Amino acid sequence: MMILKNIIVGGVPSDILIDGNRIASVVKAGTVMCDKSDAVIVDCTGKTAMPGFVNMHTHAAMTLMRGMGEDIAFHEWLKRIWEVESKIDAEYVYHATKVACLEMIKTGTTSFNDHYWHMPEAYKAATEMGLRSVLAYVICDRKEPEEAARQKEQCMRMFQQTKAWGDTATFAIAIHAIYSVSEEMILWGTDFARRNGLKIHIHLSETSKEVEDCMAEHGVSPVVYLDRLGVLGPDVIAAHALWLSDEDAEILGKRGVTCVHNVNSNLKLASGYRFPYAELRDAGANICLGTDGCASSNNLDMLETMKTSAMIQKAWRNDPSAMPIPELISMATSNAGKALGLEIGKIEPGALADILIVDTENCSFVSPAPFEANLIYSAHSDCIDSVICNGRFVMKGRKVEGEKEILRNAAEMLTKLM
Ligand SMILES: [Zn+2]
Repeated sequence: MMILKNIIVGGVPSDILIDGNRIASVVKAGTVMCDKSDAVIVDCTGKTAMPGFVNMHTHAAMTLMRGMGEDIAFHEWLKRIWEVESKIDAEYVYHATKVACLEMIKTGTTSFNDHYWHMPEAYKAATEMGLRSVLAYVICDRKEPEEAARQKEQCMRMFQQTKAWGDTATFAIAIHAIYSVSEEMILWGTDFARRNGLKIHIHLSETSKEVEDCMAEHGVSPVVYLDRLGVLGPDVIAAHALWLSDEDAEILGKRGVTCVHNVNSNLKLASGYRFPYAELRDAGANICLGTDGCASSNNLDMLETMKTSAMIQKAWRNDPSAMPIPELISMATSNAGKALGLEIGKIEPGALADILIVDTENCSFVSPAPFEANLIYSAHSDCIDSVICNGRFVMKGRKVEGEKEILRNAAEMLTKLM
């Protein structure tokens, strides 16, 4: 049992009782009932609780590839990154994922939806760091039958291994994208996921070129192509969903697909900026936020992602109400819980205890504005004092266990990228 005493929740001074990995109760400050004399009491006076952020699209182990593809176009960038990735191994992924988790913890992310190679090492890293993860086996056969056969066998084998995973990690299927995966493997991956109740994580309509190439090859948009294959459904998490027609947005909404906006990556690679937020939301799609990997977004900061998403949306729509604060908060928290089928993203009894303790005693919060407005538009992630994930502190007073060693080990991996 743990009690977060005198912490602000939704504007109200409260006590949060955590039992194991879940929130047992949220009550008015000073009224918490706990019959366990050994309960750990944490004084949170002057601090505010927020649900931990969920990064719904990232490639965590790319964290050591920051800045390796600056100032070049998407397809040239992808070629360069694939060249770098051909040199990495399991050891690299383990240490790089640890650094990614360190950064995520420091910036308030408690869960991440990952799309990368060497998944067993990513699992080990995320679990050691105490974060909640969704780790996908990446199908990317580059339309070569031999590679497809190898990946099918490896995917089935890895799925068996993941049955021994602890409760903070979930296995998923990633289908890299329609331009890098054969139709046969798109169907195989979808069928495998559906038979085993797994989420399907795919890059979709990220660039105008992807849409043009699909039109030339199949005569329809990537969304219509996948819909005709029977891929789209509420178990699909589509990263980017940037280049959409009105019909595409309607289909994604009707199928209940989760669309993940990755604004910084899209901006930096000049993929585009007109994410059709209102169209997707009004059509019924579930919308979340992600950073994408550090090779394109350069950091994993969800607060920065929230702010930029809203600013860009307001600007190109010429409408300051284009992405309101409560919706922005849901996109970074509870919508992700809905997408992943996990009770995360909320501070309420029964929810998993993934909580940020935010220190508001700094310049960013000295204003009469609501906490959320200051958090998103004024503060930086260093206002996040402590982070609890699955009922356990993973950062306390800005300190994460083993931080120096994690950075030192990662630095030794850099030679593998050269
Ligand atoms: Zn991506």
